[in-house]
Parts: sequence; C-alpha cells; structure tokens
Amino acid sequence: MTGAGGTVLRCEGVSRRFDDAVALDGFNLQVQEGDLLALLGPSGCGKTTALRVMAGFERPSAGEVWVGERRVAGPNTWVAPEGRRIGMVFQDWALFPHLDVWHNVAFGLADGPDERVREVLEMVHLTGLERRMPHELSGGQQQRVALARALAPGPEVILLDEPFSNLDATLRARVRAEVREVLKEAKVTAVFVTHDQEEALSMADVLAVMDNGKILQVGTPHEVYGAPATRSIAAMVGEANFLTGTVDSGKVVTQLGLIPAPGLADGPVEIMVRPESVTVAKDSEGTATIVAVEFYGHDQLVRAEFEDGNVVEVRLLGPRPDLHIGAPVTVSLCAPAHLFRLDDHKSLFPFCGLDRVKASS
Ligand code: ATP
Repeated sequence: MTGAGGTVLRCEGVSRRFDDAVALDGFNLQVQEGDLLALLGPSGCGKTTALRVMAGFERPSAGEVWVGERRVAGPNTWVAPEGRRIGMVFQDWALFPHLDVWHNVAFGLADGPDERVREVLEMVHLTGLERRMPHELSGGQQQRVALARALAPGPEVILLDEPFSNLDATLRARVRAEVREVLKEAKVTAVFVTHDQEEALSMADVLAVMDNGKILQVGTPHEVYGAPATRSIAAMVGEANFLTGTVDSGKVVTQLGLIPAPGLADGPVEIMVRPESVTVAKDSEGTATIVAVEFYGHDQLVRAEFEDGNVVEVRLLGPRPDLHIGAPVTVSLCAPAHLFRLDDHKSLFPFCGLDRVKASS
C-alpha cells in the first residue's frame, strides 16, 4: 500500500500568488516512494498550480519544494523542470500531432533511446502501434502515449493533471484501472489531480484533500472517507447527510434514534451519515415520508423527508418496489454516524461507530 522507501516529493509552506488570487497558501505535502497520491479538491482550489509548482512550471512566492534529498525550489534555489527528474502528463495530453507514437515517446530521450522506447510502449500495451499518428488513436491510447512519454526518461515522480477528464464516462473507468496498473508495474511514484471523488477514492493509495490553496487532510481513501476531519471534507469526499442533534447525558438524540456518545459534553452537535449507512422500513407509524426514488439498476437512492422538512438520502441495494413516493417510513442507522462540533465543524471522532449504533438499539 503506502510506500516504505522514504519521501520522494515534499512541499513545505508553499505559497503562490497571482495578481489578485492566492492559488497556494501554506501548501504542505509529502509523497512517499511508490505511492499513487490523489490531490482532490473543488475547481479553483489550487490543484493545477500545486502540480505546476512541483514540476517547475511555476515559481512559488514562498516555501520550498524538495525532490528526494534535493531542494529544487526555495529561497535562492531554482532547478528548471528538465533538471527535476519529474514527468508530467498534461490534461490535454499535449502529444506532438506531427510525430508518430514512437517519436512522441522518444522525444526527450537523449542517446540510444530505442530499447527504452520499446520497453515503455510494451509497458503501456501499445506495441504494434509505433507508426500511428496521434489522430489515428483512441482517447485511451493517446492517454497511454502521454504516459509512456512521461515514463520514458525514468523520472522519480510522475504528475498527472486531470488525466481522465478528456475521456467519456464508460472509457474513463477502464483507462483509470489501466493507468493504475501501469504505474504500479513501473513502481513509479505518482501524483494526480482530480475533482472527481470517485476517481480519487478508487485509484489512489493516498488521498490528499485540498481547498483554498491548502491541504486539509491526508490519509488512505478509507481513512478520509471513514473519518473525515471536518464537515466540509465529509461533504467533499462521498455523499453525506447532515442533521443536527443534541447530546444529553452521554447520548445524542437524533431523528435517526439515539447514538451513544459517552464523555461528550451536553449541547448541540451536527451528525453526518452516509446514504449507505442508513436504512428505511415501510411503517405506517413512521416519522418520515418518501419523497423521491432514483433507481440505478445496481442500487437506488431514496429520499425520505421528516415532518420538519429535514431530508435524508438512503442508498439501498437491490429492488425495493415497496418503497414508493408517499410511503411512510422509519429511517434508522445501520452503520457509523459521524459527529461534528457546531462551532468549527471539526470532527468529534471517535464518538461514532457501528458498535455504538448497535449498543443503542
Ligand atoms: P480546476 O479544477 O478548475 O482546474 P484548480 O484547482 O486546478 O482548478 P488552479 O488552476 O490551480 O485551480 O487555480 C487556483 C487559483 O489561481 C484560481 O483562482 C485561478 O483563477 C488562479 N490562477 C491560476 N493560474 C493563474 C494565472 N496564471 N494568473 C492568474 N490567476 C491564476
């Protein structure tokens, strides 16, 4: 899983200001050897600028960038992109339209590149297509040429900027898996930028969530999804329902029932629960009513509204024809809920957990 061979890339207190925008603001990140790290955040939060600073296409206004033991940007230090041993795959892949696959990959390899070109083309499963021009390739194949070109010089790290955004939805899932496989096979450390949470969760060994030019939380996808540090991270990584509740003598009173919270001071808290962590049962005495059902084949999303107008989204596997609009239901927890403080929206973890949900029932 996460690398054990030391830090390959490090940003320390990096800031990057443009005339009227602060793209990076005290940005700190460490990437461990062999890891595939996803940088996830909303549009405009500074993801591309972070990659460009790492690659050397942007100079930081403050802070330092290190590749292994070498400082490549900082006060009185500047190593140009070609001296950093960092490979870059651009969002539009930036293939040379007048060069065939072979020459696109060989570009940038100084001497005797033949063996290496053959090797990386085999790695990305493009052997046999050496003489094709970029316009004669599918989107997925073009993507792999861009990856092969970045891998060819044997960089320490590969940076990929929204690498799948040019692919349609069906192709994207397959190409994602292929790219992950190639990077793992090549044992290369990589950072990719995305605003697609599904992409980040499914592909990355390590997930770094950022907003407003800063890293907010770093962890495995399971850790970040399962224990988001703040309310906004919970909303950014996965689907989330938010409700308010009151801690009263070690229990949180919520519309979903009681959640034990021993040791927590009395007062209001916010509760976050994932749609797959809630269930509904038809119940003529129920306190909620189904107001929408979205059927996706493999699962369905049901919206249940309480009398006070609060709505909870529930994701259920398998067909449930009994759950129609207008049906009265009881909504209850079947997996961990998360509690956040109301003032600063920080997590009250570990005051959540399935064992506690079970204990309360
Ligand atoms: P997206 O997901 O939409 O690509 P992003 O997270 O990659 O966004 P950046 O492209 O890094 O965000 O931009 C961060 C901020 O810096 C934005 O407010 C953007 O307008 C600003 N910015 C980026 N590049 C420049 C530039 N060359 N000149 C001025 N402002 C810039």
